[in-house]
Amino acid sequence: MKGNRNRTVNFMGVMLMGITAMVILLSCAGNTRGIAQQIEKDTLQRNNDTISVVAVGDMMLGSAYPTKVNLPPDDAIGSFKNVKTFLKGDIVFGNLEGCFLNKGKSTKCKDTTGNSCFAFRMPERYGSIYKDAGFNLLSIANNHVGDFGDAGRKRSSAILDSLDIKYAGLTSKPYTIFKKDSTIYAFCAFSPNDHTLSITNIDSARQLVAALKQQANIVIVSFHGGAEGSRFEHVTRADEIFYEENRGNVYAFAHAVIDAGADLVLGHGPHVTRAVEVYKNKFIAYSLGNFCTYGMFNLKGPNGTAPLLNIKLNSGGDFLYAEVVSVKQDKINRLRVDTAHMAFKKIISLTNTDFPSNRLVFADQSIRLKEN
Ligand SMILES: [Zn+2]
Repeated sequence: MKGNRNRTVNFMGVMLMGITAMVILLSCAGNTRGIAQQIEKDTLQRNNDTISVVAVGDMMLGSAYPTKVNLPPDDAIGSFKNVKTFLKGDIVFGNLEGCFLNKGKSTKCKDTTGNSCFAFRMPERYGSIYKDAGFNLLSIANNHVGDFGDAGRKRSSAILDSLDIKYAGLTSKPYTIFKKDSTIYAFCAFSPNDHTLSITNIDSARQLVAALKQQANIVIVSFHGGAEGSRFEHVTRADEIFYEENRGNVYAFAHAVIDAGADLVLGHGPHVTRAVEVYKNKFIAYSLGNFCTYGMFNLKGPNGTAPLLNIKLNSGGDFLYAEVVSVKQDKINRLRVDTAHMAFKKIISLTNTDFPSNRLVFADQSIRLKEN
C-alpha cells in the first residue's frame, strides 16, 4: 500500500506514544508482552507500503458446451478450495480463458457432439466462484473470450461488472483504471485475437501504456501470447507462429511496454510455464501456464503444473521479490498445491537458460534480486 512518507513519520510518532501509553497501562494488568507485540505488528502492517500482486495463468472452470460432460462434478464450487489461502493480495489476477454465457452455439465448432470442439462457455453462475476465491482483476484478451461472439463478450463483461471484478482486453474495453487503498492502478491486456487489443501492434501498445502511466501509480500489463505446449517453453525473442497465426514476440512486447511505463507484465497463453525476467527493475512473467482449467485441457507433464506468484512491488512499482507457490492439477484431484515444487523448478531452469545473465536468486520458493 502506498503511503505519504511525512505523514507516515508523524503517524508513527503518534502511534509510538499511543503504544507506550498502552504498554504502561497493560503492564499493570500483567499481560504486557503479548499485547505490545501484537500492537507493534499491527503498526508495522499499517505502515507497510509494499504492494502485493497475486498472479496466475489460465482459468476455465468447466464448459457447458458442447455438452455438460465438460462441467466438473461439484459444479466448480470447489475449484479453488485447495489454494484459496494463497489468493490474497492487493491485486489477485488471472486470465479468464472463456466466456460466461448460459445459451448459444459456437460457429467455431463443426462437430458439436464430440470432443474436438474447443469453444468454452462457462455457466453464468460460475462468475461468483472467481469472486469468492478472491480474484479482483482478470484479463479477457485471449482466444476463448470470443468463442460465442458478441453475446459471450457482452454477458461476460456484464457479469464481471456486477461482481465488481476489474477486467480489460477487449477493443470495446481496452483498459481499466481503479483506486485501491490510496493506490491508483491501470490495467490493460493484449492478445493476437479478434476484438482484443493486439499483441502484434507494439506501437499502439506502447502508446496506450504511456497514456495510462500519466493517470496511475501502477500500470499492470497482461498478454496472452506465444506458441502453445511443452515444445514451446522458451522465450525465443522472435515472432511465434502457431497454427499459422502470429502469436507475438513476447520478449519485444514486454520490453516495449516497460519502456513505455509498465510496472508489471503478466504473460499467459502457452499453457506451460515460462521464464521470468526483471527488466529496468520491473518484473515480467512470460507464461503463468494452466492454473485452473477443467475439461478438454491437456494436463500432461508441464501442462499440468503452474506457478501462483505473489509479487511484491514498492510504491513506485519496482520489483522487490516474489513468492512462488507451485500448483498442479489433474481431472480427478483437480487443483492443489504441488509439494514437489515443479513449477518453481521450471521457472529456475528456464530463466537460467533463456536469461543467463539474470541477476536473480531462487531459493526457498522465492525469487529475489542479487545483492550488489
Ligand atoms: Zn488461450
